[in-house]
Order: sequence, then C-alpha cells, then structure tokens
Amino acid sequence: MNDTIREKVRCLIIGSGPAGYTAAIYASRANLSPVLYEGIQPGGQLTTTTEVENFPGYPEGVDGNQLMEDLKKQATRFGADIRAGIATKADLSSAPYKITIDEEKVIETESLIISTGATAKYLGLADEQKYAGMGVSACATCDGFFYRKKVVAVVGGGDTACEEALYLASLAKQVYLIVRKSYLRASKVMQERVMKAANIQILFEHSAIGLFGDNGVEGAHLVKHKGQADEEKVDLAIDGFFLAIGHKPNSDIFKPWIETDEVGYIKTVPGTPKTKIPGVFAAGDVADPHYRQAITAAGSGCAAAIEAERYLSEIGK
Ligand code: NDP
Repeated sequence: MNDTIREKVRCLIIGSGPAGYTAAIYASRANLSPVLYEGIQPGGQLTTTTEVENFPGYPEGVDGNQLMEDLKKQATRFGADIRAGIATKADLSSAPYKITIDEEKVIETESLIISTGATAKYLGLADEQKYAGMGVSACATCDGFFYRKKVVAVVGGGDTACEEALYLASLAKQVYLIVRKSYLRASKVMQERVMKAANIQILFEHSAIGLFGDNGVEGAHLVKHKGQADEEKVDLAIDGFFLAIGHKPNSDIFKPWIETDEVGYIKTVPGTPKTKIPGVFAAGDVADPHYRQAITAAGSGCAAAIEAERYLSEIGK
C-alpha cells in the first residue's frame, strides 16, 4: 500500500448531479477548496433527459446537459477542483476520512459530502436503450409534459408507479399501468386514486418485453400471463413508456459506516444533510426517497456545503 497515491483535502464532494455541483459552488465560495469527483455519470441523471422545464429560473426550459454544464462552469469559476473519477471504497472509521478513487488513489478529507445520487431501475430490455430520449423515461415529472393528450404506459405497481400514473393522467389522454402481478403493491390510498382515475387502465399480469416504432416509441410488446407456461402476446399502441419499478441509491460503498434505510437511502438527521458521522454529509437523491427532484437535490447540496463549512470552522481545520 506504500505506493498508493495519497492526497489531503478539506472538503471532498462525490458526485456531479445538482447536489454535488451546488455543494461545490457553495464550498468553493466559502474557501473550502473543494475537490469533486464526477462519478460514473458526469452530470448525473439530468444528462439522461432532454428538456428540463421545472428547474426555477429557466422560463423557456433548459436542456438537461446544458444545465449541468452550466452548474459545473459556475463551480469551476469559484475554484472548485472538478475531476473525473469514481469513488470505489470508503473508510469512514475516523477523520480524516479516506476515499479511494478508481481503486488507486486515496483522498484523505476532513469533511465529506456524499452526493452520489440514485439510479432508476430499468427492465433491462435492449429497446429501452434504443429509444432512450425518444419515448422512454423514468421520470414523469421531468418528461410528462411532452405527452399532453397522448397515450402513455407506466410500468410498476408500487407507490411511485401510481404517483407517476396519476401525474401523467392529468396530462395525457390515456395512461396504461402495466403491472406484472395480479395486484398493486402501492398503499391503499394510492390504489384507490388510480382506480378512480377515468383515464388510467390497469393491465394486471402483464409484462413489457419490447418496444416498437420507426420514429420513437409507437408501441410496446406485452405478454399477458394467463398461467404457468401459458402466455398471450399483445401489442399496445403508446407514445411514451415510463419506468417506475424503483430506484437504487448509490450508497453501497458507504453502507459499512453509515446508516441507510432498507432500500439503501442514506439516513440523515431530519431536515439536515448531517449523517451520524461528524463532518460527513449526504445530499441529493442518495438521501432522498421522497422528492428526488433536481431543485431539491440542489437545495440539499447547498445545505451540505454550509454544514461542512461550519463543521470545519468548529474543529479549526
Ligand atoms: P417499490 O419497490 O415499492 O415498487 C416497485 C414496483 O415495481 C413493484 O410493483 C414491483 O413489482 C415492480 N417491479 C419491480 N421490478 C420489476 C420488473 N422487473 N418488472 C416489472 N415490475 C417490476 O418501489 P417504489 O419506487 O414504488 O417505492 C419505493 C418506496 O418509496 C416505497 O416504500 C414506497 O411506499 C415509497 N414511496 C412513497 C410515496 C408516497 O407515499 N407518496 C411515493 C413514492 C414512493 P412487484 O410488486 O411484483 O414486486
């Protein structure tokens, strides 16, 4: 281990979504000389969407990639050191905390902001990639607006799927909820709302196995499970295909040290980005099972940087 490259910093930020970049803007303006590692998907989840119309300050909307590029530029302008690299290991047993980058370099940091985000789960169909940004989405609040008066399908039977279906039902002409089992897993109240919506049709015991369309999504290939080894193929004409089968918070390397809920969301002191470890903060979707919006992530990134600044000044570092 002697030849491992080591570097000491005051504030390390992991992740480059709205939470990470906002933390970097605030931390650099507070003279914390933050170092930010961008992670697997530089720019985060917003780079997988097209137009962002609900981020305050952009009356005409903004391209997701452009928004993240702008946040990055803003952080760089104040001196944030933004680097490519993935955090592959964490040792939070005592300060300074040690984060291994790309399995070869160890950063020792006095304060740590974890903003590694969450990844929407996909079914794993090749067509999901083929039609990415052309009718496939995992975020109704981001992309639903483009399906006004159109026909869409939502896959999933939990609270998220019901919420997404209800949101889309307020915009779209028709929403199909594709549920693999014969019942919904969602809470009773959400189930009732979905059942009551005139333009939501639930397709129980159906699974999507592919998508088709020459110019973006024009339909989905489904199978209806009629019993073991007995299936019927059905084609459903739709304009948009929304996944709502859960998110996976990117918290795996921190789990030995930090409390998470059963899904993996990092638990913070309510209303703050503080974890139980002094100087370690969690911001954005990795710690947010409830809202998962770019603007709420940015807000918590700001709070994390302010807390990091207070912590460093308290310990005199
Ligand atoms: P859940 O894990 O609760 O539900 C996932 C759903 O997706 C299930 O119906 C599951 O089916 C289905 N699913 C999973 N994988 C596949 C697959 N490969 N093919 C087809 N269907 C699949 O996730 P949610 O994101 O809905 O919710 C996460 C947590 O957040 C829950 O605790 C929920 O209550 C909470 N939440 C609360 C909200 C609220 O209170 N307003 C809003 C949103 C979330 P199956 O049932 O067959 O396993």
